[in-house]
Amino acid sequence: MHEVGILNQVLEMAIEAAEQECATKIVRLHLLIGELAGVVPEAMAFAFDVASAGTMAEGATFEWDTVKVRCRCSNGCPDFEPDNYVYACPRCGALASELLAGRELQLVDIDIET
Ligand SMILES: [Zn+2]
Repeated sequence: MHEVGILNQVLEMAIEAAEQECATKIVRLHLLIGELAGVVPEAMAFAFDVASAGTMAEGATFEWDTVKVRCRCSNGCPDFEPDNYVYACPRCGALASELLAGRELQLVDIDIET
């Protein structure tokens, strides 16, 4: 489960940020997880419970928003969210020229107690 390695990095970042704020405890973490990030959010949440034990983030709420895939049409049609993995424009059928969103995997917010 490679979520564990990724999660450990996220946890380290969160703890570092919390320490800079002189926090004693992290109560909530919020992440953005793209559909193409290559991780299963539920597995991340599980890995978080395990990895955070004994740290200042133990017992914190682990939240995330899923980011849908968004593509840019190579013919200049409005950006679109593909329904499958072909990434063809729903208006003109051209293949997407660019992936605008969906690969995110980032820690966007933490709540702390000082
Ligand atoms: Zn198009």
